[in-house]
Amino acid sequence: MLVLVLNCGSSSVKYQLLDMPSQTLLAKGLIERIGLKDAALTHAPAGQQRVVRTVSIQNHSDAIRLVLKTLIDPMVGMIQGLDQIKAVGHRVAHGGEMFTHSVVLTEKNLVALEKCSGLAPLHNPANLAGINACLRWMPGVPQVAVFDTAFHQSIPPSAYLYGLPYELYEQDKLRKYGFHGTSHKYVSMRVSEMMGRPLENLKLITCHLGNGASVTAIEGGRSRETSMGFTPLDGLVMGTRCGTLDPALIPYLMEKYGFNTSEVNEFLNKKCGVLGLSGVSSDFRDIETQAGYGNYRARIALDVFVHSVQKYIGSSAAVLDGADALIFTAGLGENSPSMRQAICSRLTYLGLELDPEKNLVCGQEADISTEGSRCRVLVVPTNEELMIAMDTYGLTEQTLTNMER
Ligand code: AMP
Repeated sequence: MLVLVLNCGSSSVKYQLLDMPSQTLLAKGLIERIGLKDAALTHAPAGQQRVVRTVSIQNHSDAIRLVLKTLIDPMVGMIQGLDQIKAVGHRVAHGGEMFTHSVVLTEKNLVALEKCSGLAPLHNPANLAGINACLRWMPGVPQVAVFDTAFHQSIPPSAYLYGLPYELYEQDKLRKYGFHGTSHKYVSMRVSEMMGRPLENLKLITCHLGNGASVTAIEGGRSRETSMGFTPLDGLVMGTRCGTLDPALIPYLMEKYGFNTSEVNEFLNKKCGVLGLSGVSSDFRDIETQAGYGNYRARIALDVFVHSVQKYIGSSAAVLDGADALIFTAGLGENSPSMRQAICSRLTYLGLELDPEKNLVCGQEADISTEGSRCRVLVVPTNEELMIAMDTYGLTEQTLTNMER
């Protein structure tokens, strides 16, 4: 059964076409700079040369139509007709408290989803535009929403409530939500398979360390605590995001530098993190290179990042009362042995011992701890698109099979 996975950002659409349940990737691609003169399509059919084209794309509806046309293109497409696509899975940033797991988008669910948009004004409108475009161009094909927040809905009130008047939670749903849920869920499922132990019996600390970064405490397959909060700005110091701050700093910054609310938001999201600390880049590869040349600010940016990850691992271990495994995923977690080594250097209290040889692995699944390590350390490449395809297949396969009978 063919499943199309869509990840619509404010000016981009990423897509993958997968055959499920075999998990075979048939094609993937990206439309960038939607609405600009130099919008571009990159299409990569499996096993063939990728195609890059400048295109005229005004909005998400045009973009989705181009994706569909490309998939059935006689030269570069992988399918003969759109009727071969049996379901579409959409990445949706925010599901609020209404969505605790992935759902098929019925009319009722769409109304509920519209209501969540206010919680993620930068992300959800683009996700909704993608959904509406699919409803237009692929009428009758089941659409599934997979939420970044849903996995964290198992976090208890003691962990998701802020020290704010309770009415603000009741009226406006101001609380911790957490993000990267699809990634944390996917790697936890892989770890259970890799360790040959049921998820129900495992305490896991998953570190999604990419440009955006978060740490999650998972017990019995359920998220118990996570570092991101009401928005993805909270928690770890990240590529360009500041992470946790003394909240009093925000009015201070606004007064001192004359920032209005959108300017301070832009500043904290785009100009801070290891970019602001190092003055070099938001990319850890550049920062590691500069630190190697003796650049003090690059060195201190790495040290602040490591300290921040160690602190959140510590708080996760406290919430879980120990851990069976620590997991590294996403760009940095999967590919930087030096970062993993630095982070693990002060985790001996977990009974954790990294194997320096095994730790050299990049971008593939591996257990990188010593035989005797009480807490396993694993590298697991994340695959959010596959997780979306798995949920989409799981939610629609039965209905489609019944319809075909
Ligand atoms: P992601 O957001 O998951 O795509 O991760 C992107 C980040 O991963 C980049 O900003 C880099 O800082 C980091 N990264 C990717 N590959 C490496 C590598 N080989 N060494 C260090 N950092 C890396």
